[in-house]
Amino acid sequence: MKNVITIDGPSGSGKGTISKLLAIKLGYNYLDTGALYRAVAWKVREEKTNPDNEEALKKILEDIKINFEGNRIFVDGIDVSSAIRTAEIGELSSRVSAKPAVRAALFSLQREMGLQGKVVIEGRDTGTAIFPEAENKFYLDAGIEERARRRYEELRVKDPEATLEKTIEDIRKRDTRDSSRENAPLMKTDDMVYIDSTRLSIEEVVVKILEHLK
Ligand code: C5P
Repeated sequence: MKNVITIDGPSGSGKGTISKLLAIKLGYNYLDTGALYRAVAWKVREEKTNPDNEEALKKILEDIKINFEGNRIFVDGIDVSSAIRTAEIGELSSRVSAKPAVRAALFSLQREMGLQGKVVIEGRDTGTAIFPEAENKFYLDAGIEERARRRYEELRVKDPEATLEKTIEDIRKRDTRDSSRENAPLMKTDDMVYIDSTRLSIEEVVVKILEHLK
């Protein structure tokens, strides 16, 4: 499968920024799968649903309508692009993403979106569970302090309560949860190209990926 490029990696590894840029350079579509989990989390919060209540989650998943328009994401017609980028939604999305019902519902959506044409798809299971048959798979990583620093730079603009210490703690918690869940955990497989971006610029990472594309 040549039209799908998958980019997996933990929070703050740079996969969002890099995937977007790569998609522009190649003229591909871009799919941010984390935004889908955040969209579900946003609705869970909006409806004051208990994220551990699988039945209530199923109901939300049956009703929810998620659309992308350019860089914006909409839930049931509401533009939630900024609202899903808070630390609170990040944490809640990690919790709901561990639920099998949520992953199952978003699986088909991601396959459909991914099969609409050439696409760079990024997340935590895109090369392992969503498009395991993709030919070009990458795993982006960086040291935890660098990842937290990057995430904090994004968060502090929208979230005056964010601190670097708290961001490191949150990222550590999410890393553990995302890597240890039973269902499609974050994982590097042997067929992925591993790139450590701790000391690389965005441009340098993109160049490395372009060099590897088959
Ligand atoms: O990448 P981002 O931080 O936006 O993702 C939010 C959360 O969604 C992650 O912490 C992770 O738990 C979940 N996620 C996932 N699988 C993906 C993408 C995101 O479980 N493919």
